[in-house]
Amino acid sequence: MSGFVEKPEPVEVPGLVHIHTGKVRDLYRNEAGDLVMVASDRMSAYDWVLPTEIPDKGRVLTQLSLWWFEKLIDLVPNHVISTDLPAGAPADWAGRTLICRSLRMIPVECVARGYLTGSGLAEYKESRTVCGLALPEGLMDGSELPAPIFTPATKAAVGDHDENVPYEEVARQVGAETAALLRRTTLDVYGRARDIARDRGIILADTKFEFGFDGERLVIADEVLTPDSSRFWPAETWEPGRPQPSYDKQYVRDWLTSPASGWDRASEQPPPPLPQEIVDATRAKYLEAYEHLTGLSWQ
Ligand code: ATP
Ligand code: MG
Repeated sequence: MSGFVEKPEPVEVPGLVHIHTGKVRDLYRNEAGDLVMVASDRMSAYDWVLPTEIPDKGRVLTQLSLWWFEKLIDLVPNHVISTDLPAGAPADWAGRTLICRSLRMIPVECVARGYLTGSGLAEYKESRTVCGLALPEGLMDGSELPAPIFTPATKAAVGDHDENVPYEEVARQVGAETAALLRRTTLDVYGRARDIARDRGIILADTKFEFGFDGERLVIADEVLTPDSSRFWPAETWEPGRPQPSYDKQYVRDWLTSPASGWDRASEQPPPPLPQEIVDATRAKYLEAYEHLTGLSWQ
């Protein structure tokens, strides 16, 4: 079992129709037919949306995505139309609400990896491949890959794992031309972002993008290059051969799997509420990621 411990109720706003509650974002449609994407403070871990929110997380993810969209604008157009608050929306939506072009979404999680870890490492240990791509011998958890790779996954329903798929499968699903465009754009954007992060002492180990079509035009959607969609590691402590301390969910994961939480991951029971010190430490990590990457101070 997994998913929401408690599914939140959509907010009633005149002129907006609620269309989807994702793990983190709530989607509405406005009267112009555009998408209103509201990032919540919800946090997911181990395939659960946790019962405790992280204050400011929705704003951090939104502001960081906007910062990156600007940095990428010459590589790929993005879905943002406006950061204006829709009329009648609650004041606390400010800073975490984007009016976006409603796209024909491509049902592929476009992952780029420059380093080996997570599901990539698991597959590598089995077969020396990731998404069917052959890799050299001797790589460890956290090793830099000879070159970044495109490792697509199919999007899972809430509570399911995304599944890595070979490139050929993506080409079958979306057509060879679109698959090639996704791969090229994903790797171009990853390369740009990796270099920017590296200049700031942060390793962008891997990241996930979602794209859609606006007519014939490929547009980058959703959130980009946030701690929720990416693995950021402090370059200072990077050391292949062990799990790297991650920028965001480390405290939450460590606490949930410690005896202190009383939670058994395998039990199918929902995870318990987070203690205040874990919430505070996690919030501080999200703010730190924003500040280190952008060089700006929060507020
Ligand atoms: P799920 O849809 O499985 O709940 P998720 O938990 O990752 O995925 P969120 O990130 O919380 O979802 O919500 C964002 C949703 O909005 C995703 O389903 C994403 O594909 C969709 N989305 C993002 N940008 C656009 C866009 N411009 N047009 C249409 N859909 C979009
Ligand atoms: Mg998402």
